Amino acid sequence: MTEKTAQHTDPDCLFCKIIAGQIPSDKVYEDDVVYAFKDINPKAKVHVLVVPKNHYKDVADLAENDPKTLVHIVETAKKIAEDAFHGNFRLIFNTGKDAGQSVFHVHAHVLTGEVLEE
Ligand code: 5GP
Ligand code: ZN
Repeated sequence: MTEKTAQHTDPDCLFCKIIAGQIPSDKVYEDDVVYAFKDINPKAKVHVLVVPKNHYKDVADLAENDPKTLVHIVETAKKIAEDAFHGNFRLIFNTGKDAGQSVFHVHAHVLTGEVLEE
């Protein structure tokens, strides 16, 4: 794994703009590494997106280049679900256009806050 301490951002990326505060969002949690905010089109009572502050295009890119941050995203999802709903949650990473990814800055969908179907 290569060391990545510098901030990697993409000026044309929607989620980089949200992290920078250039586009408003409903923040749920933030630390030095991740930013979490409510999805604009929620698919569950609680639907939060957790993103690394550094720009990686998808979860495979993140796993390859910064696996500790991927672990941190999972820990953040757990914390959100513990606060919202006794710790149960669904975690989704759409990866690639044909799998439904529409924003190419890796984001974990955290669905919780209620009993989920299926
Ligand atoms: P994907 O389809 O890439 O897995 O997920 C992108 C998610 O971002 C969608 O669930 C969509 O509702 C959400 N989204 C898109 N634009 C915005 C926005 O401007 N603000 C917020 N909060 N969520 C957004
Ligand atoms: Zn980005």
